[in-house]
Amino acid sequence: MRDSNHRRVANVGAIQGETSVANSLIEARRELSLANRIVANEGVIDAFGHVSMRHPDNPRRYLLSRSRAPELVAPEDFIEYGLDSQPVREPSVTQYSERVIHGEIYKARPEVMSVCHHHCAAFMPLLATGTDYVPVFHLGAIGGIKPPFWDQHDEFGDTNMLVCKLEEGASLARALGPHWMVLMKRHGVTVACTSVRDCVFRSVYSARNAEYQVQALAIGGAIASLSPGETQLASQIVATTTGLTRSWEYWSMRVAKAGGAAAKPANKPAKPVRATSKPTSKPKRAPKARRR
Ligand SMILES: [Zn+2]
Repeated sequence: MRDSNHRRVANVGAIQGETSVANSLIEARRELSLANRIVANEGVIDAFGHVSMRHPDNPRRYLLSRSRAPELVAPEDFIEYGLDSQPVREPSVTQYSERVIHGEIYKARPEVMSVCHHHCAAFMPLLATGTDYVPVFHLGAIGGIKPPFWDQHDEFGDTNMLVCKLEEGASLARALGPHWMVLMKRHGVTVACTSVRDCVFRSVYSARNAEYQVQALAIGGAIASLSPGETQLASQIVATTTGLTRSWEYWSMRVAKAGGAAAKPANKPAKPVRATSKPTSKPKRAPKARRR
């Protein structure tokens, strides 16, 4: 009798745990969908480019949309991939060709929880000339000082410039190294972060900085960029102020005004990704069964 009671309690716990996992995945898909729409609405990505996140309950997987313009990405569009960038279940829809960018960075950097790859126009003059990115205003510090460059041609010769092979993604991840942004010559930019919202923040404000830097270069003369100390202090804005929440609310509202996904929920980030595949938080109460 006692054993059967224990089994019943264990079964209830398992069901509650599964419900918690399912809820966190629903939240994650909703937030990642909004992230894709925000970076599109802010002009960082257009028909191409994508934002991914590590799976909220399995660090050996990540979520990336099926192949479609990011401005249209919906929660149900996400495909689950292993770190080899192969889908966990074969989808019946087309996939992004450059998904190895995401998979190889998640593989190389366990602390990275979100990746954005884009071809933002503001960066193109820097990428075409090999000019270093430097922070020219305080929010631009989020991109760091002189993030590394990567040129696909150096290792792979003439290609179609798309990063589609595992070895190409691995090469890019090596170039990224311990940094948070890597500039891809004559192609685009890849940003890595510890959360989806942080990834959006870094992508948007580094693009703003690139725009201002290129305009400053066009004026001529020396650029008064931030010092290493100023860059280090200014880049902590995400961790030490409400700037990230304010920005997310602002961008979410702009998406809603543009007729995109609803801004809700603005204040509640998706549950952070855990370092292990085992649920560690207290399971939420299972929802009551719906009456028929
Ligand atoms: Zn690309």
